[in-house]
Amino acid sequence: MELAGLNIKFLPGVGEKRASLLAEELGIESYEDMLYYVPYKYIDRSRLYTVSELDGQLPYIQVKAKITNLATVGTGKQMRMTATAYDDTGALELVWFKGFKYLASQISPDKEYLIFGKPSMFNQKLNIVHPEIDPYDEAADRQLVGVQAVYPTTEKMKKSYLTSKLISKIQANIFKAINGKIPETLPAWFIKRHNLMYLHEALHNIHFPESPDNLRQAQYRLKFEELFYIQLNILKLKFNRKAAFRGHVFGKVGACFNDFYFHHLPFPLTDAQKRVIREIRADCGSGKQMNRLLQGDVGSGKTLVALMCMLLALDNGYQACIMAPTEILANQHFETISEMLKDTPVNVGLLTGSTKKRDRDTLHEELRDGRMQILVGTHALLEDVVHFKNIGLVVIDEQHRFGVAQRAKLWQKNTVPPHVLVMTATPIPRTLAMTLYGDLDVSVIDQLPPGRKPVTTYHVYESKRARVYEFIHKELRKGRQAYIVYPLISESEKMDYRNLEEGFEQVAAFFNPLGYTVSIVHGKLKAAEKDEQMRRFATGETQILVATTVIEVGVNVPNASIMVIESAQRFGLSQLHQLRGRVGRGAEQSYCILMTSPKLSNDSRKRIETMTATNDGFEIAEADLKLRGPGDIEGTQQSGLTCNLRVANLGRDGLILNEAIQAATAILENDPFLQKEENNTFATQVKRLFKTKINWRYIS
Ligand code: ADP
Ligand code: MG
Repeated sequence: MELAGLNIKFLPGVGEKRASLLAEELGIESYEDMLYYVPYKYIDRSRLYTVSELDGQLPYIQVKAKITNLATVGTGKQMRMTATAYDDTGALELVWFKGFKYLASQISPDKEYLIFGKPSMFNQKLNIVHPEIDPYDEAADRQLVGVQAVYPTTEKMKKSYLTSKLISKIQANIFKAINGKIPETLPAWFIKRHNLMYLHEALHNIHFPESPDNLRQAQYRLKFEELFYIQLNILKLKFNRKAAFRGHVFGKVGACFNDFYFHHLPFPLTDAQKRVIREIRADCGSGKQMNRLLQGDVGSGKTLVALMCMLLALDNGYQACIMAPTEILANQHFETISEMLKDTPVNVGLLTGSTKKRDRDTLHEELRDGRMQILVGTHALLEDVVHFKNIGLVVIDEQHRFGVAQRAKLWQKNTVPPHVLVMTATPIPRTLAMTLYGDLDVSVIDQLPPGRKPVTTYHVYESKRARVYEFIHKELRKGRQAYIVYPLISESEKMDYRNLEEGFEQVAAFFNPLGYTVSIVHGKLKAAEKDEQMRRFATGETQILVATTVIEVGVNVPNASIMVIESAQRFGLSQLHQLRGRVGRGAEQSYCILMTSPKLSNDSRKRIETMTATNDGFEIAEADLKLRGPGDIEGTQQSGLTCNLRVANLGRDGLILNEAIQAATAILENDPFLQKEENNTFATQVKRLFKTKINWRYIS
């Protein structure tokens, strides 16, 4: 039976309207979708309490009781319905704030009910707010279920009474309809080897646990399988790529690299930088094409690593290029790299949207005949007219700003693919990296250059803005500079721009009379104007930069020592971390000040607390993953691989992930193309699950 092809619309209890609600809200259409919509928690309904046993400390409980004194009290917003529930041992109050008519029609005084909810003390009286009530005789079968599933529901679903309870009923109806026939998705030998529960048993237990132990086994089976297939798919790409493709061989270390290393290196490399360069060298010398992700926190010195690898390419007779997501960044890279190479014969060029036609023509020619050795640029590098004589290494900085398609274009410029190094400062938790980038090799710079003082981070309420300005003033007097960043979040863009402009005026009104000037940078400025404002700040002509997050990526002004983030509660963790990374680049003590309104949601508070507690990008990324779930982590949407996990949770299931990786690797080592008979099931499943065929050539 093909569960993916059966529409839930025709199940008893669903129907047209609910089916479309389920499709809209949760993307659930088929039996299979529904079966994999798993509970987010379970409630123990194995025990029946008496009223006298209840107190305000208990979690969700159930009692068997009669209900009387149903009445509406209060008016308007205060209006509520109350009733008394009682058994032989005592009484308590039930309270509802909506659904009055329905309740009145449901409750009759002589019947016994199964009442389920969270008891609490209110005015020294015990009550339950919005209890679930069911006539006891009808609920008897459910009451016997020890552990009961609770499903996530949306506001819209709740409004249409599409509750957790109803979902549970729908699940039960599916099991009735298919009569236990759920096709197995793993081969029997594999199930045995890994001691797994069979799929039909696992799915049944995940919705209707027969015992806590069965539930645990069911969860394990489903999570393991989910992660296993993701890994099998992605590692297969890697195994196949390594088997199929040659790469340019960077066999020797020559004059370019050595001359730079021994005579022009501005500072000793950190151990982490050395290790990463070794990893890259080994990779580029292997004869296979390199596809490597270089992760390193902001300020960890990725540019220098990139430069040294590019020199390695030159030493072996190849050209190299580095591509940045914005013109500001490309200019900055060009300046940094030209400065470092100024006493060497290496030829470095810059190609961006603003490069003049004449210069552009010269550049194109020099690229074609090989005189131009290192090209720095923006998307302009991707234009069809750009042809390299012999490109050996492509470095892509700040990868998440580049779409997959753009990378693909660069890729296709050569018959033998160049080595690709993708650099990102968005630390991705290891578990997520394994899932998203399992087909790439990963290098990590996990160490900052010496002498950096960690940025001190404060959380300050908006009411104390005057004191923050005083603090900025103190730093400016020492000759330092400050960023003040405003949120720009598309839903209310107009209002955001107004806030930004008002903020700018407020800052200028305070600081201009003190003899300081202020730059402003935001997305609505023309590129030339933006660059001019940035330039003035970077050269110290202006002391304060008021900006939106356009400065988030890569900008380097070592003299800036203060980062003030307005309405910090509106930023995500990774953004806050990126912004903070703009300061603390010089030798001075730097500060990050997170301004918020006094009222904070729980999640906002946790984000702010995380920021004040640690400077470690990976710790922050882990916290982010736990708070938001992987779907939202910045960069993953554009990674080219979506990762919609139905059962597993990358924040919590790291151990299971490791087991899944091991299992997948063991299979691929013996059968990289999944062609052996015993691996038939795997091949079929991979094809079915990953329909959108990912072409590894286009992912970097
Ligand atoms: P990111 O990894 O964020 O791109 P950069 O490459 O911009 O970091 O480096 C940040 C700063 O650290 C630069 O000013 C760079 O010159 C400096 N830097 C890089 N490597 C070292 C090192 N080994 N020792 C001292 N400073 C370094
Ligand atoms: Mg950088």
